[in-house]
Amino acid sequence: MPRKMPETPLLDQLESGPWPSFVSGLKRLAQAEDKPYADYMKSLLGQLEHSYQTRKGYWKGGTVGVFGYGAGIIPRFSEVADKFPESSEFHTIRIMPAPGMHYTTELLRQMCDIWERHGSGLVAFHGQSGDIMFQGCTTEKVQPAWDEFNALGFDMGGAGAGVRTSVSCVGAARCEQSCYDEARAMRSVLNNFLDDIHRPSLPYKMKFKFAGCANDCANATQRADFAVIGTWKGDMQVDQAEVVNFVKKVGRKGMIDQVIRLCPTNALSLNDDDTLDVDNKSCVRCMHCLNVMTKALTPGTERGICILAGGKRTLKIGDLLGTVIVPFMKMESDEDYEALVDLCQRMLDFFAENALEHERLGEMIDRIGLVAFLEGLELDLDPNMVSHPRTNPYVRMDGWDEEVRKWQSRKAEAAE
Ligand code: SF4
Ligand code: SF4
Repeated sequence: MPRKMPETPLLDQLESGPWPSFVSGLKRLAQAEDKPYADYMKSLLGQLEHSYQTRKGYWKGGTVGVFGYGAGIIPRFSEVADKFPESSEFHTIRIMPAPGMHYTTELLRQMCDIWERHGSGLVAFHGQSGDIMFQGCTTEKVQPAWDEFNALGFDMGGAGAGVRTSVSCVGAARCEQSCYDEARAMRSVLNNFLDDIHRPSLPYKMKFKFAGCANDCANATQRADFAVIGTWKGDMQVDQAEVVNFVKKVGRKGMIDQVIRLCPTNALSLNDDDTLDVDNKSCVRCMHCLNVMTKALTPGTERGICILAGGKRTLKIGDLLGTVIVPFMKMESDEDYEALVDLCQRMLDFFAENALEHERLGEMIDRIGLVAFLEGLELDLDPNMVSHPRTNPYVRMDGWDEEVRKWQSRKAEAAE
């Protein structure tokens, strides 16, 4: 006998707001009576309502895996299986996404068909780590489902204390703001760490993310231990004819309100003839003006990446955005991509040797100090690593002149 649709008065309230609700999605799956997962999802809805009534979660972990891999399955066993037996096991399979998140519709249909045969029909594109999350599967079905995803050419994502699945923005394939080939960078780095993804052996998790510019559509600055963000050196490109057209469209007041005044460093000024002056030395590449005037303004021609380390919301020491450890690195030739992989490897080795158990990169840097971390990675200190000039005038300046001389001589040596 098929299970009856459970009464869910508390969950129903979540559907009443203006935004689409995950509850409607779960109900749709539960009402698909011709599908093998209908009772599975009714049972899940019952358990979820029970959780809301009792204000308690009832999922516990365990050990579930597939042959040859030490990670990638998130086991979920129910503690109220006596009340909701059909959904007593609700494991998640994490699958690595395609770089830049490019899929054909045919491929998406194949994935959905696999999950309708073996799982709950519930799929999340993409989880916070970037994985495609196939949610809801019994222990028995995990291996056959994985075998079919693998046959499509996909690999298992990360879980546990190892390198996690990565994500890159759509970037160079479709976006005019892109400053390097994010998909290539992600693939080069991740392929180098496949063993650390599939057999976790680090003190704690390590996430790499790749965004093509400071708009950071990959959420790298906040969410990645190692964030690679596209940027440029020198002057941005300005098409003055398009600037004049933009001013015609929005008016001088609109231009001042929407662009000039919103530059965080006052680097922009509007001339009497409606052309634009950019003080490129003051520009901090925040992307605001380029986002508003997409036809008129474009990143400069000397493009590359800026690398930030230690971001995460929320660490034991609070929320941290990534700290700049490499202000600019070219990303054009094969050697440039190899240099990035090499830096990632040095960082991972240092993290493996120096981090405490259950300590993320940002916490480790906070504990040992940024200077020790940079020395460990053999990176030179650079004034551009300061994210914002100090505004407090009470600064001890003893030793500064000596440091400036050292920095200047390092720069001169590098230029030779
Ligand atoms: Fe485009 Fe920048 Fe967003 Fe990447 S991060 S998709 S390059 S706007
Ligand atoms: Fe100002 Fe940002 Fe435009 Fe640079 S990118 S000029 S900081 S608004």
